[in-house]
Amino acid sequence: MPIYHLGIDDTDSLKRGCTTYVGALLVERLLPQATFLDFPNLIRLNPNIPWKSRGNAAICLRISTPMDCDYLLELAEEVVEENRDRQDEKNQPGIALLEGGVPKSLKLFGRRALYDVLSVEDATSLARELGIYYRTIKGGRGLVGALAAIGNTLEGDHTYELIVYRKKETWDGQRQVDRESVVEMDQGTYPYTFNNLDYETGRVLITPHGSDPILFGVRGEYPSVLRQALKMLKFSGGEMWVIYRSNQGTDAHLINNSAVAELRPYQAAVLEGKLMGTPKVIRGGHAIAELGDATGRIDIAAYEKSGEIQKVLRELLPGDRVRAYGGVIPHEGQPTRLTLNLEKLEVLELITAVARSPLCGKCKVRMKAKGRNKGYKCEKCGLEAKYSIMESLDRKAKKGVFLPPSRSVRHLTKPLQRYGMEKSWGSDSVHSFFGFIDAKDSP
Ligand SMILES: [Zn+2]
Repeated sequence: MPIYHLGIDDTDSLKRGCTTYVGALLVERLLPQATFLDFPNLIRLNPNIPWKSRGNAAICLRISTPMDCDYLLELAEEVVEENRDRQDEKNQPGIALLEGGVPKSLKLFGRRALYDVLSVEDATSLARELGIYYRTIKGGRGLVGALAAIGNTLEGDHTYELIVYRKKETWDGQRQVDRESVVEMDQGTYPYTFNNLDYETGRVLITPHGSDPILFGVRGEYPSVLRQALKMLKFSGGEMWVIYRSNQGTDAHLINNSAVAELRPYQAAVLEGKLMGTPKVIRGGHAIAELGDATGRIDIAAYEKSGEIQKVLRELLPGDRVRAYGGVIPHEGQPTRLTLNLEKLEVLELITAVARSPLCGKCKVRMKAKGRNKGYKCEKCGLEAKYSIMESLDRKAKKGVFLPPSRSVRHLTKPLQRYGMEKSWGSDSVHSFFGFIDAKDSP
């Protein structure tokens, strides 16, 4: 039987709709007539793309079925058309269908879409070259994500998300998820689920806030722990559930080890270098520092909601070595001036001493420099000294990895609790990834 990979992107908007919901409806329609070769895939792409909808999510279904391409494309188009947000001008849905194995060039395209900005033209020419069938609605920007979803086969680190969808008539209403049961679920499944709650503020993070089909979503390491989490949660208004295999929580987008001179707007990038000056704290509590590597200098910025990152950045000194992870953003009106907005900061080395002018042995005051490399002189008694002295520093800053609080991390950001839990294999055995709530096949 032929193998197909069906990729879909950009069916949602800021207000309504959700690409994963389109995926869930397609899973429901395809299950009776296809074998799923993998869990449905939920692929998050470069989060810095300014024209993305909400989370820049795309989906891919990998199946084996006797159905032909035309039937599958029509089915996908029908479900997308029925469920996309028509009032929204921005969404440009894309559907792509590949028959057979995933070629290397498509995997590379998928990899680049995690951190770079790819054009519709790039996507169209690759689709033609590889004989991939596709449909685009309006501008067709969604083709980039649809192809990228197929190309990201999640052969290495990955996580799962169990999403419960709610009935259409309740999409505008309040979500009914019992807070206490979320706390119990979080504690009962730790460390195999993540980002359920923000303990600093007490906020529940599994429920979104918009008028969309999602009742809640739980993220974790294995399908079985998510089915267990579903049993522990108390909620009402759920209709069906799907378990997606995903690159969420894996730092998949932070793979572009770049140099300052090579950066381009809206990339996700990783830079290693030294602080060139003392960090500044500007209006609103944002911290900005200049980072330099062998190719140039760039401002790195930590906003107030970045929590610990901002606190750590403020404590750094010129000469400290860091690895900075984030999005490359151009300044308004100055498109060539770039800033790296930090979403993760790794402090690699802290300077432990600074060169200062020597103290006068007689007067116990600091000598003045006579000029660059000209030595020092005491202004009171005239005593001279040739060299500066190294004075050790008492540093508050610590080496390590720093992240924003869980309420403001991105979907792709790897939470600290996952460090050391990264997977090096592909899918777990594919079963029990779809069901109806309150039906006998719910977990
Ligand atoms: Zn003196």
